[in-house]
Parts: sequence; C-alpha cells; structure tokens
Amino acid sequence: MKNRTAARFSGIEKSATFAVVDTVRALRAQGVHVLDLGSGEPSFDTSAHITAEASKALLGGFTHYTPSRGLPELLEAIAGKLARDNAVVVDPATDIIVTPSAKHALYISMMSVLDPGDEVIIPTPSWVSYQSMARLAGARPVAARLSAQDGFRLSRALLERYVTERTKALLINTPNNPTGRALTRQEAFEVAEFAAEHDLLVITDEIYEKVLYGAEHLSLASLPAAAGRTLVVNGFSKGYAMTGWRLGYVAGPGDVIGEMVKVQEHSVGCAGSFVQRGGLAALTGAQDFIREMVDEYAVRREVIVAGLNALPGVSCELPEGALYAFPDISATGLGTSAQFAAWLLEEAGVAVTPGSAFGPGGEGHVRLSFATSRDVIEAALERMATALAGRRGAAVRG
Ligand code: PMP
Ligand code: GLU
Repeated sequence: MKNRTAARFSGIEKSATFAVVDTVRALRAQGVHVLDLGSGEPSFDTSAHITAEASKALLGGFTHYTPSRGLPELLEAIAGKLARDNAVVVDPATDIIVTPSAKHALYISMMSVLDPGDEVIIPTPSWVSYQSMARLAGARPVAARLSAQDGFRLSRALLERYVTERTKALLINTPNNPTGRALTRQEAFEVAEFAAEHDLLVITDEIYEKVLYGAEHLSLASLPAAAGRTLVVNGFSKGYAMTGWRLGYVAGPGDVIGEMVKVQEHSVGCAGSFVQRGGLAALTGAQDFIREMVDEYAVRREVIVAGLNALPGVSCELPEGALYAFPDISATGLGTSAQFAAWLLEEAGVAVTPGSAFGPGGEGHVRLSFATSRDVIEAALERMATALAGRRGAAVRG
C-alpha cells in the first residue's frame, strides 16, 4: 500500500505545546529533574463545589448521552454568562453549542465555515493549533505578522494588507497566547470594522478572558459591526482550572451553529454528560475562586518578568493577560528559539516553548508559562541565571 495516511496531514506538524509535554514526561521517566514552564497547565485544581457536582451526577447515574448541542440548562447558563460578562445576547436554543474542549470548539468552527481554498487571516504570533486546524479544513491560514517592536499591536491597516477575494474569516485571540496582549477598545473597533467592510466571519478565542491583569476584556461579538458575524469561542480550562475536563463552547449566528451541530453529531456526539454538570456548577456557583487564582497569577507574572529581565540578553514585557511570558532571547547569542529551548532543557533542565512554534513573528522569543507554581518558576529562573552565566549545567540527575 502506498499512502497509508491521508494527504491532508502531510503539512501538519505535531502540536508544539504537546511536544514539550511529551519531552518533559520522557525526561522525567529517565530521572531528569525538569522544571516545566512549557504548557499552560494551571497549578490549581478545580474547585471542590464543581467536582462535587460532577461526582454527584456520575454517582447518580447521569452517565448517558446529552443533546449534541449540550444540556439545555448549561446552554441557558452560558447565555446568561455571555449577557452578563460580555454584553453578548444570544438565544440558548439556537446560538450556542457545548463542545468537548475549546480546542474542539475551534476545530469545528473552522470545519464548519472554511471551504478548501478559503483563506483565514490569523494575526501572529498565535497559539500553535490555529494554523493546523485551518489546514485540516483544507483552508489556507494567512499569518498577519505583528511586530514585537510596537508591542504586537493590531490595526486595520495591517489586516488590510492580507485580505484577498478568498478571505473568508479572521481569527482573533484576546487575551493572547503567547504574546499576552489584550485588544484595546480601539483595536477591537478596527477589527470589527475591517470584518464588516470585507464581509468576513470572525472567530474570537476568548479562553483567557478572566486571566487579565488590569486590562478590560472586550468581546468582539458585543460590537455592532461584528455582532451577527462572530463566533465566540470560550471554555472552562483556564477560567475554572478545568483543563482535564475537556469542556468548551461556541456562541454565534444560529445558522452557523446549526452546521456545527452536524459536525459534532457526526464526530464526538456530545460533550460528557457529567462533565457538563460540572460546567454548570462552575458558571452558576461562587466566582471568588477566579479572583484568588488570577491574583496569584499576577504575582507570578511579576516574579517571572523581573527574573527574565535580569538575565543577560533577555528582555521581556509584562503580559496584560493569559499565562505566558514571551521574552525576546535573540541577544543571548544562543541561536534560534528552538536552539535556545533545546539548550535550556539540556543545560538547565528548564522546559519552554520555542517562539517559532507560534508562527511568523515568534522567532527570537520563547514562551514560558507561569501557570505553574511560584516555587517552580523561582527555581527555573535560578537555573536559567546559572546556565546563562556560563556555569556548569544545572540539570539534576537522580
Ligand atoms: N485557545 C487557546 C489560546 C489556548 O491557549 C488553549 C489551551 N488552553 C485553547 C484554546 C484550548 O483550550 P481547551 O481545549 O483546554 O479548552
Ligand atoms: N493551551 C495550552 C498551551 O498553549 C495547553 C496546550 C494546548 O492545548 O496546546 O500551552
């Protein structure tokens, strides 16, 4: 047999974030003491009132399929949250789909709106999976390269450079992984006007909306120019420390959501039943946990950025949101971001994600997650300082 696997996978790389997770696991299995600043995996466990509700559902036999769109009471709760937090008004019966993860939400969004040959504009640096998802849908991801020099600012003028008659959609992520930027009101207006002018769909990934350090979150779907053409993607992984639950959702125009329901019906069917009960408890229960968690992230952000700026050849801006520091490492003289990340793992036993994984504009940077505990961050900074000062490698075997 010649081609055992589908050609559509040929240009697709493995996920760079999962690759770091795999490498860390393999090294730990060999006894290497690795400090992991790779993945955006919260050090917090899910709140007890959420796990209690899901356990109750599970033990009570709530173990069957739900409607493909999601549990009606969860759809209601999501509609309530969108109205309250985001000024986005949708009909829970037609305009929302609950998905097993925000990642799947993005995947079926792209599968539902992109035809082969369509182009989707993605401002980069951007999260590692967007471009691959677009390619899996047969579409062409078009990287709109932002510049570190002007703080990865987005403008209508920049987006105009990338639009063609094939452009179908625009993908926005705010707060942004990996740059830490949150769109300003002005940027959001420009994006919305650009989308309206060119009759584009907007997919907006707002998974870090709660993880902000002073800036305000603005959902594009709340702006008149973008309402009616925007799919809002969100999930429970970051706001509620629920990564392993795999729960997310999309809200948007009912005709598009209806097509997404078909994709979901023919792929996973529905999100887990008791998992959705956990999601319901998250949205309807006390929200103070989020404040406490984000306050702790804010401290870690200060620690990691100060520590990085003290390293020779490293310079780092304070991220406005999300869980990542994205320093410029090009003045360290240690080569490309992939070479730097490999060197750091070897010399210091510190795992980071190379900036090149985030597309054009990412090279020259690495991403360090501060979702991990303060102890790990402090130890990693110490090891990095030692390694960069040219002393003996700090990786500890044993
Ligand atoms: N979007 C962004 C920007 C992310 O960083 C992630 C990873 N948390 C996701 C989407 C996917 O989140 P999940 O699949 O865990 O819901
Ligand atoms: N979103 C996180 C990250 O960027 C988790 C891994 C992933 O889903 O890619 O590290």
